[in-house]
Amino acid sequence: MNNLRTQETLFGHPKGLFYLFFAELWERFSFYGMRALLMLYMTDHLLYSDKLSFGIFAAYGSLVYVTPLIGGMLADKILGYKKSIILGGVLMAIGHFVLTIEHPIAFYSALAFLIVGNGFFKPNISSLVGSLYTKGDNRRDSGFMIFYMGINIGGWIAPLLCGWLGITYGWHFGFGLAGIGMLLGLFVFNRAAKKGTFGEKGDVANPEIYEKKIGPLKMGTLVTLGALLLVPIMALIVKFNEFEHYLIWLVSFIILFVLIVIYKKATTVERGQLLVLVYFTLLACVFFMVFEQAGSSLTLFAERNVNLRWINASQSNSLNSAYIILLAIPFTWLWTYLSKIKANPNSPFKMGLGLVLVGVGFLIFGFSSNSMDHEAQVPMIFLVSGIFVFTIGELFLSPVGLSKVTELSPKKFVSFLMGVWFLASFYGHFFAGKIAQLTTTSEATESIFTQGIFKDITPRITGMHYSSLANSSEEHFQLYSYVSVFTGIGLITLCIGIIGIIISPLVKKKMGGIH
Ligand code: GLN
Repeated sequence: MNNLRTQETLFGHPKGLFYLFFAELWERFSFYGMRALLMLYMTDHLLYSDKLSFGIFAAYGSLVYVTPLIGGMLADKILGYKKSIILGGVLMAIGHFVLTIEHPIAFYSALAFLIVGNGFFKPNISSLVGSLYTKGDNRRDSGFMIFYMGINIGGWIAPLLCGWLGITYGWHFGFGLAGIGMLLGLFVFNRAAKKGTFGEKGDVANPEIYEKKIGPLKMGTLVTLGALLLVPIMALIVKFNEFEHYLIWLVSFIILFVLIVIYKKATTVERGQLLVLVYFTLLACVFFMVFEQAGSSLTLFAERNVNLRWINASQSNSLNSAYIILLAIPFTWLWTYLSKIKANPNSPFKMGLGLVLVGVGFLIFGFSSNSMDHEAQVPMIFLVSGIFVFTIGELFLSPVGLSKVTELSPKKFVSFLMGVWFLASFYGHFFAGKIAQLTTTSEATESIFTQGIFKDITPRITGMHYSSLANSSEEHFQLYSYVSVFTGIGLITLCIGIIGIIISPLVKKKMGGIH
């Protein structure tokens, strides 16, 4: 019976995909809805300083992507995907609702519930999508593309709805709506699981370990208690976020150690695949370092130096999701069509191309200053087309990466390695913050993007020379800092992407027959 159900298809894909699509859509609705309000809630309502708010925001933004490591590992070893997703969803819902209480303790606890909850939800729902396809099934990439579209539908409408409710009627309503979104996600998932849509996929990994008693408590219960214990720890890290860089070191050492252990246990083919996964994750780190400028320096660039029409700077953030929603279906067709005619480029090639495109996107922003007016405002077409190009880059890299993690990982470690993949965003957020700081005018003259090898290259692309800015306005200096940094990171990413494309046939060889 279960097997029969898992084989039911809709639009050529396992039916379970569409339940996961909606569950993830609502979870991301809650995630991005809350994120859209968070910064303003801190600065305008809690009256935290900009510096403190930036610190909390960055810590939250990166920590949500470190817990998938723990949530993934525990799912592989003890809970299985289904129970982990439910646990994560419940913790996240608690987080959203606690955020409606106005108290510092409630505030930090709420963020911590969300951080821990996301760790159990996010990697495991992605792994469950992967488990719907057998190895070598060429629908896998397009399945992930559909899933990614769900992510972005949530990410697109939530800031609009939660932002409007929160700012017009009160923060509680905005955060409350995010919480309701999460409950809907849980509801959709639970219904599908109860109906047997996923069959045995995602069940408890090892019932013996799950049921094993330690003292009076079952192992499964202990994991839930452990997750709850992690909440105050995360709350403290968010509060004392100036020490977060220690976590970067700690995580890097732990990961290296665990990867070596997995590598030693793996077969020769699995070893090659593991190395490819690490390589993909490193490319994704570079990608997210650049990509995550979108919410920070790129938004400020849009606000200060772009001649905006019809939309304001913060609304320019939703362009990325809107493009994905428009492009996801054509891309799914493209993958399916290219597979049919045996011309689908291999994944290392796609990942390299993803980086090239994000690089080109940022070079478009860098080039924009050639068309500035006397107030140092650049035409909006540069912003809109740069975002379009880097979004295509995202589609080449991010959903393909998710898909490959589920296909290349040894079965026992799928979710843990999914956690490793999400670490790219953890590192990405952290370093993106450092890069964004270089766009402040005080840093620009000394920044690595205006010195050394970039000293001659950058002005050729941006058309702006520091020496000719002497009597210019603050806006000109500001534009100079943005376009220099965007050009610098654009060039670096472009080069890494080109190298990635050149070595793609070699990487492909290590993938053990996987495309
Ligand atoms: N925007 C995507 C999501 O929310 C990708 C995030 C990521 O991998 N860092 O799922």
